[in-house]
Amino acid sequence: MGDRFSNRLVPGTHEEQTYGMNNGETVNSMRYLSLAAAELAETDWERAFAVFLGERLTITAGFDLADIAWSRAAFDAQRAFLLRVVERARTTAVDGGAPDDFYVATERVLGAFDALVRMLRSFEPHLVAEDARGEFTLSDAPPFRRCHEHRVYYAYGGCPIARWCVESLN
Ligand SMILES: [Zn+2]
Repeated sequence: MGDRFSNRLVPGTHEEQTYGMNNGETVNSMRYLSLAAAELAETDWERAFAVFLGERLTITAGFDLADIAWSRAAFDAQRAFLLRVVERARTTAVDGGAPDDFYVATERVLGAFDALVRMLRSFEPHLVAEDARGEFTLSDAPPFRRCHEHRVYYAYGGCPIARWCVESLN
């Protein structure tokens, strides 16, 4: 079990564009990323990305960069946002600021963030469709609300961190 970060749009070796993780590494890296995205998001696209991360976290999955709803015109700003999110997540992981359900070696989580940065830096706007249809779109995004306790954005099923937070959606 477990999942990975990857980018199937960039030509290159499988090793350079894929970082495999076990379940604990997936959950921890996605928690740090979800929290960082929620803290940094200022636009609706950025909030929708934070919700997308929460959705993936809910099913213990990483993501492929091809699954993001990139816009070629806004690609540079969108990629810069993702790089800021990864940097913030890295800082939080080093500081140990988030609770862990699993014992996970911090180096493995930092390795995942390094891999994401590498993938983002080798990614270029001409590789995405003019108006790419990813797994999230603004039109079907849920109302943007953050969990008071865990500070991440609610996904469709409620808080991505803890099921009991679902009740606070009602
Ligand atoms: Zn919560």
